[in-house]
Amino acid sequence: MLLVVTGGAGFIGSHIVDMALAEGHDVVVIDDLSTGDLARLDRRVKLIVGDVSRAGDIMRVLEVARGKEVALAHLAAVVGVQEARERPQRAVEVNVLGTQNVIELARRLDAKVVLASSAAVYGDQEPPLREDMPAKPVSLYGLTKLQAEQLLAMASQDYGLKYVALRLFNVYGERMKPGPYASVVYNFINAAIRGLRPRIFGDGRATRDYVYVGDVAEAFMAAAKSKASGAFNVGTGRETSVLELLELISRVSGRRLEPSFEPPRPGDARRSAADVSRIREALGWRPRVSLEEGLRRTYEYMRALSGP
Ligand code: NAD
Repeated sequence: MLLVVTGGAGFIGSHIVDMALAEGHDVVVIDDLSTGDLARLDRRVKLIVGDVSRAGDIMRVLEVARGKEVALAHLAAVVGVQEARERPQRAVEVNVLGTQNVIELARRLDAKVVLASSAAVYGDQEPPLREDMPAKPVSLYGLTKLQAEQLLAMASQDYGLKYVALRLFNVYGERMKPGPYASVVYNFINAAIRGLRPRIFGDGRATRDYVYVGDVAEAFMAAAKSKASGAFNVGTGRETSVLELLELISRVSGRRLEPSFEPPRPGDARRSAADVSRIREALGWRPRVSLEEGLRRTYEYMRALSGP
């Protein structure tokens, strides 16, 4: 199989690329390198530097993929609630129009699309979150992901496009992004390594479903190969509070972490956890790495990068 990965130089995309190569597949990455890192890409990858919101850029994939058995993993996006709020026009352009461009490419190649959707499509509803609940996004980010899913569903109805939308919960692991929008896992581990005081927005009782990036990459590979279609949650089914996360990171790092508390951020859901029965039944996928083990791997990786 030839796997085309949009956003393949990013955090999650680069893990999918590595897994596909390890399984013996050919890989093409299209990435504008806005947040991605070229250094992550293996020499065997064919890289197209381009923007998925520009139809001309994405159609360059045709030159290398025509005539092959192709699947498309679509991860290129303006990622995150805060980023999309700050750059709404760009978020719609990349996440919505970019997805329509990917659909157009998939039609020409007769390829299946696996979209990186998000738990943000559910908004602030009571967990466990199930795929048959109505989507009620409370952020522009969640709305653009829902619209991307709907474009795929419409193309499936109109042209028989095959697709899977993976609703990713909170993904963490090696190569997580630093910077102003870094995730809570990154910030806590970074605080542990540098001896900083971790900041908690809200009272620390907000919950999330943290899923390890290696497990997420396996879900993409399973979806690309399967005949299943529709939306699937990718999480663990477990709710972990921010305070429990801090405790686990204290244990893994061997450092006592004393947080400072700040006001909650707008657009953050109070509780979140997936019901993962649908993906287990349809794709045979289940998460394999426990939170403690995944945090240990992430901590070791970040500590090695931070130098002696
Ligand atoms: P990331 O920023 O590390 O990866 C995104 C990649 O896409 C980067 O390499 C970036 O350079 C590239 N990109 C951005 N805009 C582009 C464009 N217009 N054209 C081409 N390439 C472009 O983020 P990530 O955490 O790896 O997220 C990957 C996907 O998973 C995104 O679609 C995101 O919405 C989704 N997702 C992530 C999480 C999470 O917890 N990280 C949760 C839910 C959904």
